[in-house]
Amino acid sequence: MKVDWLIVGAGFTGSTLAERIATQLGQTVLLVDRRSHVAGNAYDKYDESGVLVHQYGPHIFHTNCRKVWDYLSQFTQWRPYQHRVLAVVDGKKVPVPFNLTSLHRLFPASSAARLEDLLIRHHGYGAKIPILRLRQSANQELSALADLVYEKIFLGYTLKQWEFRPEDLDPSVTGRVPVHVSWDDRYFQDTYQAMPARGYAELFRRMLAHPNIEVGLDTDYRRIQGQVRFNRMVFTGAIDEFFDYVHGPLPYRSLTFEFLTVDCEWYQEAGTINYPNGERFTRITEQKYLSGQALPRTTIVREYPEKHVPGQNEAYYPIPREENREQHKLYLREAAKLNGSVLFAGRLGDYKYYNMDQAVGRALRLFEEIAAP
Ligand code: FAD
Ligand code: UDP
Repeated sequence: MKVDWLIVGAGFTGSTLAERIATQLGQTVLLVDRRSHVAGNAYDKYDESGVLVHQYGPHIFHTNCRKVWDYLSQFTQWRPYQHRVLAVVDGKKVPVPFNLTSLHRLFPASSAARLEDLLIRHHGYGAKIPILRLRQSANQELSALADLVYEKIFLGYTLKQWEFRPEDLDPSVTGRVPVHVSWDDRYFQDTYQAMPARGYAELFRRMLAHPNIEVGLDTDYRRIQGQVRFNRMVFTGAIDEFFDYVHGPLPYRSLTFEFLTVDCEWYQEAGTINYPNGERFTRITEQKYLSGQALPRTTIVREYPEKHVPGQNEAYYPIPREENREQHKLYLREAAKLNGSVLFAGRLGDYKYYNMDQAVGRALRLFEEIAAP
């Protein structure tokens, strides 16, 4: 078999590149994935109760990037969806990101009003302040508030998820969920927030339905390397695995997902409930909020973080820390030696904590480089 491109990994990164190369350059692509399905970690399917579940954890689409939104809109209709998250704190459920509602739920009325006033005076209504920055506040009442939010919402959750304290990770990690000086209780504030109306797997099927694209599932690229001739390759798996861990395995976090179908219409009062303290899992998501289905039963998923062991479990999260970035650079040097014959991209290929829209954005930019004369 002879193709122009071998693309490894049929997640958002690999599939976007396959689609662009096939439709815009008219070149042929063999897209392989060692899993039995396309869509990578965004893969969804209907469970026995008919609930659309996300096999690798809840995926909510959100972006501020019009280009990415327009691009994906070619392959799906959207169901508008605004995700809401509550965290269990001292037996109460408060919105996360921590906001003015959370403040009023946790504090007696008079101190909540005073802290609200202070937050607005110091930062302005609508401000988003990463927790690590708020802890540095020169105002003592605000730094005491930040310490409390840090301890009750961030510390336990982050230790479970990463086995690091928030300050030992890149600040962008906890910066994803900044304190929000607002009554807006949505988890994301992006311009575009929606779920693919018929699910992610269907979106991918439409994206990849092109005569120039052949998809090979249950196929590790190493198994077929000798049998397929190709000009260039894109690799969206883990870059350290590609180079046989010559510079040691890059650290990742893994997860176990525990799905449970419950014989009631609704299980919980929000799409996701976080358990920063006291449980082994970090959060419970009720899939029907995401899918918008009306069904008599419901399915929830609990996420249990764990160490990644190469070959034994999935590498889900690159761990954003300086020393890991340095180790990743050693792999980038290996990649440079290949003189562009293999391009690396994606959450695992780039070793970056991308959301789906960022993975698509990265793939679209890489395509522009490929297509440039
Ligand atoms: P992946 O989806 O990981 O695809 C890589 C593919 O490469 C995999 O399918 C893998 O099987 C394949 N592969 C690897 N090695 C080989 C090999 N040797 N041979 C063949 N195939 C191989 N993003 C959001 O925007 N919103 C969310 O709500 C959200 N929630 C998330 C929740 C969880 C629990 C996780 C883990 C991620 C979440 N994300 C979310 C991030 C999202 O999953 C990623 O941004 C996106 O999947 C990245 O796409 P990718 O193509 O780079 O990687
Ligand atoms: N986080 C936290 N408590 C929360 C929610 C988030 O400590 O209630 C921290 C934690 O470190 C987490 C990070 O913020 O890993 C990013 O959260 P996000 O929900 O974006 O994580 P993801 O959905 O990517 O797993």
